[in-house]
Amino acid sequence: MANNDDQFKKVISHAKEYGYVFQSSEIYDGLSAVYDYAQNGAELKKNIRDYWWKAMVQMNDNIVGIDAAIFMHPTTWKASGHVDAFNDPLIDNKDSKKRYRADVLIEDYCAKIEAKIEKEIAKAQTRFGNAFNKPEFISTNPRVLGYQEKINTTLSRMAKSLENEDLADVKALIEELEIADPLTGSKNWTDVKQFNLMFGTKLGASAENAMDLYLRPETAQGIFVNFLNVQKTSRLKIPFGIAQTGKAFRNEIVARQFIFRMREFEQMEMQFFIKPGTQKQWYEHWKETRLKWHLSLGMGNDNYRFHDHEKLAHYADAAADIEFKFPFGFKELEGIHSRTDFDLSQHEKYSGKKLQYFDPEENKNYVPYVLETSIGLDRMFLAVFSNSLQEEELENGTTRTVLKLPSVLAPIKATILPLVKKDGLPEIAKQIVEDLKWDFNVDYDEKDAVGRRYRRQDANGTPFCITVDHDTLKDNTVTIRHRDSMQQERVAITRLREIIKHDTDMRSWLMKIK
Ligand code: ATP
Repeated sequence: MANNDDQFKKVISHAKEYGYVFQSSEIYDGLSAVYDYAQNGAELKKNIRDYWWKAMVQMNDNIVGIDAAIFMHPTTWKASGHVDAFNDPLIDNKDSKKRYRADVLIEDYCAKIEAKIEKEIAKAQTRFGNAFNKPEFISTNPRVLGYQEKINTTLSRMAKSLENEDLADVKALIEELEIADPLTGSKNWTDVKQFNLMFGTKLGASAENAMDLYLRPETAQGIFVNFLNVQKTSRLKIPFGIAQTGKAFRNEIVARQFIFRMREFEQMEMQFFIKPGTQKQWYEHWKETRLKWHLSLGMGNDNYRFHDHEKLAHYADAAADIEFKFPFGFKELEGIHSRTDFDLSQHEKYSGKKLQYFDPEENKNYVPYVLETSIGLDRMFLAVFSNSLQEEELENGTTRTVLKLPSVLAPIKATILPLVKKDGLPEIAKQIVEDLKWDFNVDYDEKDAVGRRYRRQDANGTPFCITVDHDTLKDNTVTIRHRDSMQQERVAITRLREIIKHDTDMRSWLMKIK
């Protein structure tokens, strides 16, 4: 694939063509930054959610899952700080009238410098061949050091200005760096302003009595307000976690990267309640555990990296992102945050209720500290989908488009194909479908020549094609074709379930985390 832009366009059109993601309300020309998951997308999304839930909730004796409502008492958002501080710094371009997040403009500027570093490294790698020592090169090459220094000073100045709410300096930085509107090249900027990201709505029938509500901008608060109820009814002892998955809403300004940044999206979050003072150790633990979860999917270790935050949110004492290499570069996929006792203490203050834990070992009450892991389900979908979409040159000179989804996540595990639409072959194929569908999501396909059907299933991400032919009539065997290797084997129909299970079962994938 030619370049990253082309590759990203290809991802978006493939997602549409193969029934994964559609623009919302497309017949009305769509709704900006809102998307619908289609027949295959809904399955892939569900499988990612299940993979997370299994690893986080069901495999850990000390983590339970809940499903809190999207509507919450409005005081929740006062207590959490979202009413006062859930703002993005915005800047408008006076010529193009386009609005941008000021911090994103600066980060994109740094990403461009980073691309230059990557280029230097690639050049040196070709020049020095096997003798190339990357860490040494990075730490000594004057050009790379210069670039790195520029990135560091820029990001730390931005972090400081945002922290001090010095928006004039953020604008000054944009001007000094001569950052231009990415669409038009204009450098004619307004001042930077803050903009609240929460969507408001109303509860109640009559206008006078209606109560102003917000659509939740994160799922975490549903966990905090239920902390005591869950702790008491589950009798869990610290350390323990509460997890949930669900929709969140943010009135995002820069919402242009397909399902990377949406206005309605889904989060998978876990709050881990711990003894004050142990946060450092749990922070390291969850960073490592969550990275292992990602790596278990086999999408390439080099595609992940940690990014430690310099600018901390108002609630955090340490925070890092797990970044993934999307088609448009490394970007945040998941956040790991050490949230101290900020949230529970705030809810104590605003509700007047004690949200404390009695620690039998210490023989005292305290407000637990919290370690959070927070990942966007849609972003994870984009990571999996974009990384899996590949174009392969075949030995015969043709290319094939193949969606190499980790088989544990693939929407359809196997498609059953009768070689021809006669001689009793469709009946046998349909019988196999009937039998396998108790255990797996399987499909039946009899249209077109078998080679074309294979290609269609490759592009659809289906790990196995099972072909019924005339030999099947004689010996009850079929051909099973593997999507990634394109290898074919002849196996007995009675073995199909075991073969598919071996490859697609969560057990064998999640074992890698142990
Ligand atoms: P960003 O800096 O990209 O706006 P964030 O730091 O505000 O993200 P968090 O509030 O930490 O994100 O949310 C946790 C996770 O939720 C993110 O890592 C991301 O995967 C996901 N997420 C956040 N905002 C969106 C969105 N608008 N669309 C899709 N996923 C999102």
